Amino acid sequence: MHQNVRVRFAPSPTGPLHIGGVRTALYNYLFAKKNNGTFVLRIEDTDQNRYVEGAENYIVEALNWCGIPYDEGPGKEGGFGPYRQSERKDKYFAFAEKLIASGDAYYAFDTAEALDAHRKDHEEQGKTFIYNWHNREQLDNSLNLSPEETQKRIEAGEDYVIRFKSPQSEILELEDLIRGSVEVDTSLLDDKVLFKADGMPTYHLANIVDDHLMEITHVIRGEEWLPSLALHVMLYRAFGWETPQFAHLPLIMKPVGKGKLSKRDGDKMGFPVFPLEWKDPKSGDLSAGYREDGYLPEAVVNMLAFLGWNPGTEKEIYALEELIQDFELSRVHKSGAKFDPEKTKWFQQQHLHNATDESLVSGFQAILKEKRFDVDDAYVKQVIHLVKERAVFIADLWEQGNFFFERPTSYDEKAAKKAWKEDTGTIMTSLSKIISETEDFTAQNLSANVKGWIQNEGLGFGKVMQPLRLSLVGSMSGPDVFDIAATIGKAKTLERIRFAIETL
Ligand code: GLU
Repeated sequence: MHQNVRVRFAPSPTGPLHIGGVRTALYNYLFAKKNNGTFVLRIEDTDQNRYVEGAENYIVEALNWCGIPYDEGPGKEGGFGPYRQSERKDKYFAFAEKLIASGDAYYAFDTAEALDAHRKDHEEQGKTFIYNWHNREQLDNSLNLSPEETQKRIEAGEDYVIRFKSPQSEILELEDLIRGSVEVDTSLLDDKVLFKADGMPTYHLANIVDDHLMEITHVIRGEEWLPSLALHVMLYRAFGWETPQFAHLPLIMKPVGKGKLSKRDGDKMGFPVFPLEWKDPKSGDLSAGYREDGYLPEAVVNMLAFLGWNPGTEKEIYALEELIQDFELSRVHKSGAKFDPEKTKWFQQQHLHNATDESLVSGFQAILKEKRFDVDDAYVKQVIHLVKERAVFIADLWEQGNFFFERPTSYDEKAAKKAWKEDTGTIMTSLSKIISETEDFTAQNLSANVKGWIQNEGLGFGKVMQPLRLSLVGSMSGPDVFDIAATIGKAKTLERIRFAIETL
């Protein structure tokens, strides 16, 4: 690519970022990094009514947690700022006026009541009211007024909007990197408002002006914006600007049934639809997040990458660096991507297993601290190494390895019945002797000594190993019993056997 690639993620801060939004950001990030480009974050906050406190911070934190930070954006000036549209608001009006001067836009004075009346009127006749070529000559706008009259009404302080003048009948040939050519008949389009009576631009105007001023080369966004593409392309043409390339990403669909994935699906089926937990500032309602639910960001990123894309090979487990290498917009699917909460868990499990023991220490330490265990990192790391394979989440490390930190306080009844027989007490007393005589207390050495002794005595493995496991763990689960013994050490091993003999 000869041109410097510049892409943007342009969310509106109207609440927490849905995982669909995170996926859009991710694809932008991957595309930028793959092409040595720049990933811009632009906050589209021109709609003051929908502004939600904390939403922008949430977006930034979510991108950072996922490991896909923006290169340019609020707080990271790159020569194209400011990056919040609310801080750019004095830029837009001049562009709207340009379109008026070129005849591509016009002032419209129609009041909300008048438009409502038209809508009702149409409805009664079984039609839909569309403000465009077929009726704009009968409506209250500057197309039907002399320049002087228009000026007078504006100066008198009348409310007006600026509308785009859509061509009456033209077949537009639109190009999308994922969908190929899309044809749109302009006679079906309405004359969209570009500038509102409150002095603010609409999304359409601000978005196009900013993409141009920020020198965006590729617009990668959700499919819900495909219906706006015709207008956007016409705006570029009217301004005489070069059009960026467009890629519209498939929708993320419900796990079961039809339709877009919603928060309600998550609530019903018990999975988060947000990257981070979110507390609604008004209602105080709490929505679950992948981070707080114990997911690794690597797993969430991998899962999202595969929601609408695949590399065309069998490979499914990807680190971010590998995604950057293999990601291609041309391999993004056209049809909706079904969200699969089970597959998400599978990605989590795979990434937890692939994570280094070291990288899981601080997460597990947090759980241990909460349970008031003060253990050093080296020990925690050793435990992680032994139980990681059985865990899906970091919290499972506790379920799987609690006996490394505390003596079993009770014994699994069924297991005890099966493993602890009449003669077990005597056998365990002799075993204790073998254990206490083992100088070099490694799993390997201990295993050799104990197994040798079992053979010499002709005892049978189950008769020794099962009660030993029961003594150390409290149940029949856990990793190799000699690994457990070597990790907790000789003194604790002997103490637990003694305690089991006394209790059972
Ligand atoms: N502000 C729009 C949104 O919230 C941006 C759409 C676009 O990327 O053009 O999704």
